[in-house]
Amino acid sequence: MIELKKIILYDNDPVLRKHSTDLDVDNIKPEEQDLIDLMVKYIDVCYNDEAEKYGIKPGIAVASNQVGLFKKVVYVHFKINDTEYKYLIANPKITAYSYAIAYLADGEGCLSVENKHEGIVPRRARIIVKAYDLINKKEITIDASGMLAICLQHEIDHLSGILYYDYINKEDPMFAKPE
Ligand SMILES: [Zn+2]
Repeated sequence: MIELKKIILYDNDPVLRKHSTDLDVDNIKPEEQDLIDLMVKYIDVCYNDEAEKYGIKPGIAVASNQVGLFKKVVYVHFKINDTEYKYLIANPKITAYSYAIAYLADGEGCLSVENKHEGIVPRRARIIVKAYDLINKKEITIDASGMLAICLQHEIDHLSGILYYDYINKEDPMFAKPE
């Protein structure tokens, strides 16, 4: 059994701040595919409620640099109200976003962050993402709102070395724009 616990890099490692480059989707190297498979495995274990069994922190999504792959890949897999959201995408780009802001009332969490960072993380309420779908092997456009929009922004930020707590207002962590 792979030790899933050990694959995640933590934010005390400055390498998480490094910018990832595009994945060559027509020429994925075996070592890149291995890391992508691990990302999927980790989040699917959580999706199947087996995080405890594997001794890992539960999560709904992961970015490739969190497992040491510095080519842009994001995997999202969660369910809300019987709707399953599952995306394994490469080279995602946010091409449009709403002015309206959304945030999780309890703040965000991250597989790579062990210390608590309380506070509001303002996100765009709705985004359009263009990416390469690694499951169906084609370019796709995702029109995301709600949890999916927040989740995708969190993961796409990782690829630019940005962590969620970078956005928390230092003077007033619970500050949220009225919009
Ligand atoms: Zn994260």
